[in-house]
Amino acid sequence: MKNTTRCPMCAQGFADRTDLRVHLMCDHRKSSLTEELLETIEARDDSRARRERPAVPVGDS
Ligand SMILES: [Zn+2]
Repeated sequence: MKNTTRCPMCAQGFADRTDLRVHLMCDHRKSSLTEELLETIEARDDSRARRERPAVPVGDS
């Protein structure tokens, strides 16, 4: 099967984006979607920040 859209939440495949949209709205609640996306973004930013700024002084004199 080709040209399927995968749900980023549960990796379920769909024939087109409309089906995915319905699935997201029905099977995944908006709040849980937001949390999942935020976790993904935070994890990415965290690893990148750690790489760019390896040693942040804590400042305990
Ligand atoms: Zn899903």
